[in-house]
Amino acid sequence: MLATSTLSREGVDQMRTQLKPGETAVFVGSSGVGKSSLLNCLLGDPTQVVRDIRADGKGRHTTTSRQLVLIPGGGVVIDTPGLRELTLWHAEDGLDRSFADVDAFAWECAFRDCHHAGEPGCAVRDAIEGGDLPEERFASYRKLEREIDFVARRRDKALELAERKRWKQIHKQNRERMRFRGR
Ligand SMILES: [Zn+2]
Repeated sequence: MLATSTLSREGVDQMRTQLKPGETAVFVGSSGVGKSSLLNCLLGDPTQVVRDIRADGKGRHTTTSRQLVLIPGGGVVIDTPGLRELTLWHAEDGLDRSFADVDAFAWECAFRDCHHAGEPGCAVRDAIEGGDLPEERFASYRKLEREIDFVARRRDKALELAERKRWKQIHKQNRERMRFRGR
């Protein structure tokens, strides 16, 4: 057993040394316990190579795929399909970094929440029409954005289900307690 802290980075180096070249680790745990923070910590450099390993051979960035993360200095961590927040973390990171050009125009939009779908004062649309931003570039941006939305919705749905289950359990316990008192 190894205790780690992503804040103090305690135990992170020990964990990294356990992930020797050729070793493969799997991160398992509920959503929100900090697996992605830990993985982030292990990676050190967020630009690390992330590869999808796909059982079905279908496209990248699908939430059903597992992710293979190469840890600097050796090991490999497999992110299981349950750990969707990590996929999201990578995707959001990728959107910011890979589409800095689109982002720069988006900052000039009249509305902060502009969807660049025909709103007045949309700098992204202006840039496309003026030839400053290639249409296909914006199309790729849209595609990744949709994938992020999809992952986020899946995650929210999972959280909602977990919450509902938790409350169901609480109600059940209360009912049982009441019944016991009634005797
Ligand atoms: Zn816009």
